[in-house]
Amino acid sequence: MSGKLYVVGLGPGEARFLTPEAGAALEAAEALYGYVPYLARVPERAGQQRFASDNREELARAGAALAHAAGGARVAMVSGGDPGVFAMAAAVIEAIEAGPAEWRALEVEIVPGITAMLAVAARTGAPLGHDFCAISLSDNLKPFEVVERRLRLAAQAGFAMAFYNPVSKARPWQLDRAFEVLREELPGGVPVIFGRAVGRADERLRVLALTHARGHMADMATCIIVGSVETRLVERPGLPSLVYTPRSAGPR
Ligand code: SAH
Repeated sequence: MSGKLYVVGLGPGEARFLTPEAGAALEAAEALYGYVPYLARVPERAGQQRFASDNREELARAGAALAHAAGGARVAMVSGGDPGVFAMAAAVIEAIEAGPAEWRALEVEIVPGITAMLAVAARTGAPLGHDFCAISLSDNLKPFEVVERRLRLAAQAGFAMAFYNPVSKARPWQLDRAFEVLREELPGGVPVIFGRAVGRADERLRVLALTHARGHMADMATCIIVGSVETRLVERPGLPSLVYTPRSAGPR
């Protein structure tokens, strides 16, 4: 039997966000690989092997899953959100690029999921209704100067932006620095959304002006959306304001 590797997006939280296609891939797999908390979201099934690993071990995890599939098994690598967004799909392809020739002959299927920024955006209105970009604030895989430059240029170019990996114990000051850079480029009233653990029981949402945005308001489970100059709030009586970025933009 020939092996196959699925790279599956679980969505942002509870099972209702999992697509039927992702559910079918998890069902079909004989073995599951993934970061501990993501694997924990997949119900145990008799006869299905599970290989949980630490967060930092992406390439090793990708290699182990590829070797397992190359041995003839149907293997699923799970990711939170979408596997192509700051997650395992790129790590798997990186391992294929550097790995033995037989890995290139493997069937690989990337199964998309709802990524964090889309879940956060949907909770608050339409902050990504016009052009936007996504930036990981982690400087594990790129220098922070690159992050700063991208923030500045994205703000100047009129993009709304979504930040992934906004803080960690090893990166305590970077998010405050990011807000500082943005305050140099954008009006203080631009809406900033902090969406934490969206789609889970402990979900928390907070919307405030860029002037008031601070690093301590986020943790590792937070995805932040910073509006563009056009992004604004539509106030409603007795209901939360809707955050939106109009579909059209002027010549700025
Ligand atoms: N592949 C994932 C992102 C992995 S990077 C996806 O597509 O969503 C990890 C970062 O994703 C976290 O630091 C956080 O910024 C964001 N994130 C993941 N799940 C989230 C959730 N339920 N709510 C808010 N942010 C989330």
